[in-house]
Amino acid sequence: RADLAMYQAKSAGRDTLRFYDPQMQAAVSARAAMEQDLRAGLAQGQFELYYQAQTEQGRITGAEALLRWRHPQGGFISPAQFIPLAEESGLILPLGEWVLKTACERLALWAAQPGLAPLSLAVNVSPRQFHQADFVPQVLAALAGTGAEGHLLKLELTEGLLLDDVEDTIEKMGQLRAYGVGFSLDDFGTGYSSLAYLKRLPLDQLKIDQSFVRDVLTDPNDAAIARTVVALATSLGLRVIAEGVETEAQREFLARNHCHAWQGFLLSPPLPAAEFEALVLHTNGPDLPQT
Ligand code: C2E
Ligand code: MG
Ligand code: MG
Ligand code: MG
Repeated sequence: RADLAMYQAKSAGRDTLRFYDPQMQAAVSARAAMEQDLRAGLAQGQFELYYQAQTEQGRITGAEALLRWRHPQGGFISPAQFIPLAEESGLILPLGEWVLKTACERLALWAAQPGLAPLSLAVNVSPRQFHQADFVPQVLAALAGTGAEGHLLKLELTEGLLLDDVEDTIEKMGQLRAYGVGFSLDDFGTGYSSLAYLKRLPLDQLKIDQSFVRDVLTDPNDAAIARTVVALATSLGLRVIAEGVETEAQREFLARNHCHAWQGFLLSPPLPAAEFEALVLHTNGPDLPQT
């Protein structure tokens, strides 16, 4: 495992591995090694979904599923590191399918538990995954195979994905919407989507990127962007949620500016399923009526 040792040697911290070092030829073989490890990891069940609470008016109303890779030698590897590689190598197709199925299994489990029943679940979808020919049947199979309800499943898409092939995107979104599946535009404001496309796409929600939330109290431009995204969502009839909320002051600013839905470390980091579920029962109380 010499290659693996190389990419581990460049570990930048407990949670991150930096292997895109353009100065080192070794980075190339480290990538190849990681790709091989991804393949093996998928076969060996090294992936896990964590769940980050999404909250609205003090209640947890759903979660975002975030992929975690427990590498046998490298500890946890961040999706920011391996998702791009999975996209390039095509491994995102089986990996994404696994994520969808696992997320839907979780949704079906929640539906059977009174205190968890109305929770929705947002799943990140990457461009190559979305644009594969059988993406729609794959989502429908995940729903049907688990008994999860479409209207509790939300797919998080990014601006680049939407623009890759607008006609294909609109068609697929329409097909899934017929089953109740919702769509959230992730990292909104960091990409290149035009307002004209935004109007055409059957979205349900815009997600204010955490890069605007971070300095919302100190940077007037970020504050203006955050307010503008809320206003835009409102006037287009879309919901809005802020990501990366870490402080009470950020939450308060957002609420004052009519963004009541948020997720972030202020409430909770992404958690293993059992811990997330305990958090929901504790935060919402056990008597949540079924919807
Ligand atoms: P994203 O979808 O924009 O997810 C938000 C990221 O912010 C997550 O990082 C989350 O853990 C982190 N985060 C949440 N709250 C806070 C906070 O208060 N402060 C800060 N600083 N960060 C916060 P994570 O889990 O490392 O995921 C990174 C990206 O990887 C995601 O960005 C998403 O684009 C991608 N990703 C994760 N899971 C999947 C997946 O299952 N499929 C695909 N295609 N992409 C995924
Ligand atoms: Mg996301
Ligand atoms: Mg995001
Ligand atoms: Mg982001």
